[in-house]
Amino acid sequence: MSKMQHYTVTGGAGFLGSRLCEKLLEQGHEVLCVDNFYTGQKANIIKMMDSPYFEMMRHDITFPLYLETDNIFNLACPASPIHYQFDPVQTTKTSVHGAINVLGLAKRVKAKIFQASTSEVYGDPACHPQREDYWGNVNPIGPRACYDEGKRCAETLFFDYHRQHNLRIKVARIFNTYGPRMAVNDGRVVSNFIVQALKNDPITLYGDGLQTRSFCYIDDLIDAFIKIMNTDDSFTGPVNLGNPREFTIRQLAEIIIDMTGSSSKIEFKPLPENDPCQRSPDISLAQKTIDWTPSTPLEEGLKPTIAYFDKILRK
Ligand code: NAD
Ligand code: UDP
Ligand code: UDP
Repeated sequence: MSKMQHYTVTGGAGFLGSRLCEKLLEQGHEVLCVDNFYTGQKANIIKMMDSPYFEMMRHDITFPLYLETDNIFNLACPASPIHYQFDPVQTTKTSVHGAINVLGLAKRVKAKIFQASTSEVYGDPACHPQREDYWGNVNPIGPRACYDEGKRCAETLFFDYHRQHNLRIKVARIFNTYGPRMAVNDGRVVSNFIVQALKNDPITLYGDGLQTRSFCYIDDLIDAFIKIMNTDDSFTGPVNLGNPREFTIRQLAEIIIDMTGSSSKIEFKPLPENDPCQRSPDISLAQKTIDWTPSTPLEEGLKPTIAYFDKILRK
């Protein structure tokens, strides 16, 4: 077990954050979860509340926060397009004002700080698969910009605090990740399709379904978060994290219908504006620096995810 440290996880009540908090506790650390429950849920953290090493603080990171900590994981931000587009101004504030506050905090207490960035910084990519040195193709005034540009500006702030104030930063660009604990109403494709299939409702396929994504299982991703946080101080990223195996969204629908034994039929819906056509990470940097390659194939990771939603829907 590594030496006990104090970790602050913003967005710790969300899908990824709650799993990260659990892993850090398992490794013998103290964890403070900071969350305003915008898209997070108490159910995600309730079991950890019994631990004397876990604390919860209800707080919106667009406001300053003063506390003592050794390490910060900054995950606070709605991640699903329907949620981040619901109040786009708040989304940008969360990424930008939020980053300024957590960076100011890290600077004051000399904490190491991790930023959950996103493949969305590449926008609708003209390069495929995406490498970290690709600068992206983002519409700065479109409906996705509050998220994409917010996260891009957060990266800028992280690198400027690193250059200007010598902060120890780690920036990870996360590609589509799925698993148990996604909210039923999350709105992202894996949870939507599983919930629809389990209810035998129509599967809502946007566009022709030939757009691609690559899907990473949550436990693989969280392992990478922890490895990255433990890299040498000279390693800042940005580093891509995701599963390079690429699927069309139509293939995903077919796999989920098959695995759930559902009688759902595919219903075609309009493609949302600026929906990226293709996305898959080049993970050679992660392979080289943290010796990480995701090990869970889609069909394996979907099993516990389907079981999770099945249990929730039966409640
Ligand atoms: P999520 O919506 O489940 O979790 C986000 C958490 O942040 C929620 O608990 C929410 O309540 C909290 N939050 C939102 N705004 C806040 C604010 N102003 N102050 C405090 N808390 C706030 O999403 P997730 O999938 O767990 O994503 C976590 C992070 O990872 C996000 O930053 C997201 O952009 C990033 N990310 C996720 C994916 C993915 O596929 N899951 C991909 C790329 C990037
Ligand atoms: N901040 C915070 N907690 C801290 C220190 C700073 O929330 O422990 C916030 C504060 O709102 C500040 C911002 O982080 O405005 C940026 O801090 P920094 O020290 O970089 O800049 P300044 O204080 O000069 O604005
Ligand atoms: N999508 C879909 N049906 C849904 C939800 C999403 O066809 O019910 C598509 C969406 O248009 C996109 C892909 O699935 O092409 C992934 O969408 P998601 O919202 O999960 O994440 P994104 O990668 O777009 O941020």
